[in-house]
Amino acid sequence: MKALVYNGPRDVQVRDVPDARIERATDVLVKISSTNICGSDLHMYEGRTDMEPGRILGHENLGEVIEVGPAVDRVKVGDRVCLPFNIGCGFCEHCEKGLSGFCLTANPGNAGAAYGFAGMGPYSGGQAEYLRVPYGDFNCLVLPRGSEEKETDYVMLSDIFPTGYHATELAGVKPGDSVVIYGAGPVGLMAASSATLKGASMVMVVDTHKDRLQLAEKLGAIAIDDTEGNGVERILELTGGKGADCGCECVGYQCCNMHREEVPNLTMNNLVATVKATGGIGVVGVFVPEDPGARDKLEKRGQMAFDFGQFWFKGQKMGTGQANVKAYNRLLSRLIEKDKVKPSWIVSHELPLEQAPEAYENFDKRKTGWTKVVLKPGKSK
Ligand code: NAD
Ligand code: ZN
Repeated sequence: MKALVYNGPRDVQVRDVPDARIERATDVLVKISSTNICGSDLHMYEGRTDMEPGRILGHENLGEVIEVGPAVDRVKVGDRVCLPFNIGCGFCEHCEKGLSGFCLTANPGNAGAAYGFAGMGPYSGGQAEYLRVPYGDFNCLVLPRGSEEKETDYVMLSDIFPTGYHATELAGVKPGDSVVIYGAGPVGLMAASSATLKGASMVMVVDTHKDRLQLAEKLGAIAIDDTEGNGVERILELTGGKGADCGCECVGYQCCNMHREEVPNLTMNNLVATVKATGGIGVVGVFVPEDPGARDKLEKRGQMAFDFGQFWFKGQKMGTGQANVKAYNRLLSRLIEKDKVKPSWIVSHELPLEQAPEAYENFDKRKTGWTKVVLKPGKSK
């Protein structure tokens, strides 16, 4: 099969690899029809993780089931399914509680597994013609009839829509709340959309990319352009000096200052400054236990100078980590089915798999107009 393989920093290539296949009785084999590039892929693409060369990337996958293992009961050949980026077993202590992002079975010795992801188990990604899905009955979200017409909406259920939603859950967003969101990438935009869904009274989205901020405005959010570095002041002004009720971090450890230099503690400390006393903070942007490629000494060891004194004094709360996609994807899919939301509004490009290397390059540069790429294996140029 054809697949997108990681060769090394900023070097990916579509090439022939052995076909994905059923390896265990509980596996399902999926022919991929849509697979997105994610901001998480960029941390790997840039060589800022310990991703092994030769591995297939891609954790935001949707396709048709073409084979099921002998122990699969529920999922049938021909079902169209969307796969959460996390691989859960369904029966461990965490999966039982809906915390499938921290499954204790799928990546032994660690909490959490995913497709084509550094440090999250040996599983191949879905930026390929076929994908092996472990624990198929648990992991497949079977899509309703007619899902083909909304394929680019449904594929967002694999990660960024539930992840944006998770950010608002971690932050405790309730109807009437004001919410500040750092990052207007796909995840930040989905957090803004989720906060709006939950009835937030004011949503502010901070970034420096004007094209992305315009998308936030289309949603009815207030765009905070931090190009001049005065975003914090603007948020305090808008909230009467108190700060927002809730805040979401949707950028991660490679966040930048106005000069585009990486300052890993910037968004976290800005959140402490712009969320009100006793407010909630949800952090879904990725932070890593080690970052040898960082310039910052602390960041090399996965640490940061965090304004903990201010955080404590303000009595703020914080939730962090990978999104438990399974906990939300079924309900969010109904909103798509009934036309209540249309997450595909952030998609800027739908491209054949062959064009993945140029898509990575452009998305990595945050080139104007490249917000979210959906790759289409099986469709040629
Ligand atoms: P992205 O990289 O396209 O978006 C990040 C945005 O943040 C960019 O638009 C960038 O300009 C902006 N930004 C950079 N520095 C900033 C700052 N100081 N203040 C405000 N904005 C700033 O990626 P994405 O796909 O939206 O993903 C965002 C983060 O979420 C990544 O770290 C990704 O790995 C992570 N993620 C986490 C989960 C999870 O389950 N927790 C799932 C998916 C993605
Ligand atoms: Zn992702």
